[in-house]
Amino acid sequence: MGLIGLVVVEENCTGCGVCETTCPFGAIQVIDGVAKVLDNCTLCGTCVDACPFEALIMKSGEKKEIADKTAYKGIMTYAEVDEGQLSHVALEMLSVGRDLADKRGTSLSALLIGGEGVKEHAEKLIKHGADRVFVIEHKELSHFNDELYAEAAVKLINDKKPEIFIGGATAQGRALLPRISATIKTGLTADCTELTIDPETGNLMQTRPAFGGNIMATILTPDNRPQIATIRPRVMKVSSEDPDRKGEVEIFPYSPDASRILKVIKKAIVMEEDKVNLQDAEIIVSGGRGVGGKEGFSVIYSLAKELGAAVGASRAAVDAGWIPYAHQVGQTGTTVSPKLYIAAGISGAIQHQVGMRSSDVIIAINTDPDAPIFDIATYGFVADLHKIIPSLLAEIKKLKS
Ligand code: FAD
Repeated sequence: MGLIGLVVVEENCTGCGVCETTCPFGAIQVIDGVAKVLDNCTLCGTCVDACPFEALIMKSGEKKEIADKTAYKGIMTYAEVDEGQLSHVALEMLSVGRDLADKRGTSLSALLIGGEGVKEHAEKLIKHGADRVFVIEHKELSHFNDELYAEAAVKLINDKKPEIFIGGATAQGRALLPRISATIKTGLTADCTELTIDPETGNLMQTRPAFGGNIMATILTPDNRPQIATIRPRVMKVSSEDPDRKGEVEIFPYSPDASRILKVIKKAIVMEEDKVNLQDAEIIVSGGRGVGGKEGFSVIYSLAKELGAAVGASRAAVDAGWIPYAHQVGQTGTTVSPKLYIAAGISGAIQHQVGMRSSDVIIAINTDPDAPIFDIATYGFVADLHKIIPSLLAEIKKLKS
């Protein structure tokens, strides 16, 4: 027996709202004076413990049991390919996967899915730590298609039975891995920032921020296999390439059933917003509310141009309409890990920090010496950004000349 649902005992519910404020996932709401459980409920049970009126109970039922967990072996990563190009996140997953495989004393494989010619990336994956690369190649897979990719991946996973399957929490990974986990009926932990192996049980310990980034929750998938997780891009470093590394490449046969092809992608067009490549930038100059307005961002753009950097922003600046959302760094924006992150006029709220604190060097510019950004900054200027950035620009230009 296992948990299958959260039930509201309506006669006990007073509509007090304790459950709504306690739920870490925003998955319960008081509507017309009664608590309603939303689709994104994870059955974590926080509201059940918090409810003062015993109006929430977990309902038990039949749960799928894995007959033999020992049949699942090895770590497998999803090697993301975007329009024929191997993504940076594919290499990040390999460095996490290699670490897990070594801790678990097992092998590491990578799953490469794409159109004809995608197997050319297999060698790079091996040089970055894969012992084996499974290739699923078909002309219908040239563009990412969540339905077909998930079908192909499920076939391979059911055949090879990895005990852990991980991928990037990118637009592709967020579409693909939940489909896989729902089809296989196993758990998925989204947006992890750390993965490790429990030395006693061998279970994957999947850590991710919860409660608006104020605590780190470690989640387990103890009963089902594989254990599936997505990891935020740019949180993990890529390990260096070993040109002498050898591994195996196996072509896995897959041909989509024509009746299953529900959508046909004719052409992929990169939208203007997608050209803001914060994730791959080595230097980012970000502006916040302290910039003072849309026009104020011109100094941020000038500094970014001079440094060959991408432009980032806090949510306050995005919400004010000073800069598009594609530039937002943080919990509900992009997670970045550049060599240099310059935060100008940004206070350093926890939701901003979780998206940039793994940057190698952080420079903060803020008029308030007590701003929390200084707690994580490598260097800080307690100064008006509109005075300091023009001076910095002049100095950089002088050095360049
Ligand atoms: P403020 O906090 O207002 O800070 C402005 C700073 O500028 C101040 O420290 C001030 O001293 C300084 N300043 C003013 N004038 C100058 C000047 N002339 N020169 C130099 N410094 C100056 N925020 C994000 O950034 N990213 C997210 O993804 C994100 N997600 C969120 C998710 C949730 C669920 C919630 C609740 C919040 C989220 N937030 C996010 C919002 C976050 O809590 C903060 O409100 C936001 O980061 C504040 O932005 P800011 O630092 O630009 O503004």
